Amino acid sequence: MNRGEVILVGAGPGDKELLTLAALKAIESAEVVVYDRLVSKEIMDLIPKEAKLINVGKNVGDHPVPQERISEILVEEAKEGRKVVRLKGGDPFLFGRGGEELELLVENSVKFRVIPGITSSIGAATYGGIPVTHRDYCSSVHMITGQGKRGTQPNINFGALKELDGTLIFMMSVGKIQYIANGLLDAGMDPNMPCGIVENGTRSNQRKVISTLENLERDVKSKDIKSPALIIVGRVAKLSNDFDWFSKLPLKNQNILVTQPQAKASKLAEAIKEAGGNPVLYPVIKTEPIRPINPPIREHDVIAFTSSAGVQSFFDDLMEKGMDSRVFANKIVAAVGSQTAKAMASYGIVADFVPSTFDGETMVKEMVKNGVISESKSVLLLRAEMGSRETVEALEEAGVKYCDYPVYRTEYISHEPLESDDIDWITFTSKSCVTGLLKTQSEGFLKGMKAICIGRQTEELAKDAGFETYISDVATVNSIVDKLKELASENSSEGK
Ligand code: SAH
Repeated sequence: MNRGEVILVGAGPGDKELLTLAALKAIESAEVVVYDRLVSKEIMDLIPKEAKLINVGKNVGDHPVPQERISEILVEEAKEGRKVVRLKGGDPFLFGRGGEELELLVENSVKFRVIPGITSSIGAATYGGIPVTHRDYCSSVHMITGQGKRGTQPNINFGALKELDGTLIFMMSVGKIQYIANGLLDAGMDPNMPCGIVENGTRSNQRKVISTLENLERDVKSKDIKSPALIIVGRVAKLSNDFDWFSKLPLKNQNILVTQPQAKASKLAEAIKEAGGNPVLYPVIKTEPIRPINPPIREHDVIAFTSSAGVQSFFDDLMEKGMDSRVFANKIVAAVGSQTAKAMASYGIVADFVPSTFDGETMVKEMVKNGVISESKSVLLLRAEMGSRETVEALEEAGVKYCDYPVYRTEYISHEPLESDDIDWITFTSKSCVTGLLKTQSEGFLKGMKAICIGRQTEELAKDAGFETYISDVATVNSIVDKLKELASENSSEGK
């Protein structure tokens, strides 16, 4: 039996958090994804690497892959026995031609399912602070397309729309704004009728304009509004002045570069997004465990980890050898940074010592000061190959015996250079992220850009490289985001 099937999936307006659980499940298990330009990059990033991607992208009035061909592709791929996800912006049935695509599937007896999505007509309005209905202002809502069939002029009954006295949501209408505004005015609608325009709704680059019917065409043109955008005509639009929560998020319109290794970056990226910012994932390093390792634990009194990558590498090896955290019995264990301590805790080890700031040098100095280490004790550092000199220099200065034992190495990742105009802030969670980023760009390119760093040593390196640097209060990604919020609000109040 052919196991091939097509799942018609609504991807929502763009924010990946607005995907349904069913949509996410379908995307994650897709073998083929047929998509168009309304599907946001964030959502495209969720598609498994092995899946075959087919772009049938279309712009209004310009269909690179004809509709009939799209339907044929779906049939062909499913008949090959593949699980095909047909991903569509918003809801697949609302001006999404979902119905047309299903017809050929039915004709060819191809199995299919349909997963509804949040339509942009409501979702983008919501993110623009516009509730599409409100009992004080209207009793109906209408979705209207500005496109006639096959690119012809639409034939909208403006008189009827005016009489309905509901909220009117025009989609695919940016190019038809003159026709729409004049049509409503000629039908006798109040020239002061509030209107809202939401461009790229729910995405980090969302723009919103509140206007009136008589100024609508002027505002759409002067603000250079582009598709995808909604034009919302109705008294509810003026509620946006009070209800627009999205554009008030603290990191709105801020593009923030995340240089951390891919495997770790999601936490920082999510915290940035929750604060309204746009995380730009640009991992400049990756960590690779060193094998084989055989650290001389028994010979030392204090065991120090300086990063979660070190903890991970060490414990993976330990477990592979059939051992566990009892190797640390009677040892003092130190961790630089709360994330490192947390990684240790996941293996059942509670750090005896965590320094007040996130760097190895401070760890050594504070351990000396608190009497945790002294000349009679020896320290085993389990850390990166080519770890920072400052840590071992501090040990030498204190006359403490040590062994610097590498358990992982950092590899740099090459990238296309950045467009600096697109980036407002850079985040550095370690010195190697600074070095890694510098390697990807031409000399001097990043000078003066604002960088938020974890740890003093990271900050010093970034400052020496010419960044305008800031340091998070504590060594956590949440603290980076708190610092970003603080700085962004200072910037915006200065701008007033
Ligand atoms: N099926 C889709 C609509 C497809 S028609 C849905 O349910 O949303 C394409 C139109 O949808 C665009 O021209 C625009 O008017 C609207 N649209 C889609 N995504 C949008 C977004 N993120 N912000 C504003 N409008 C959007």
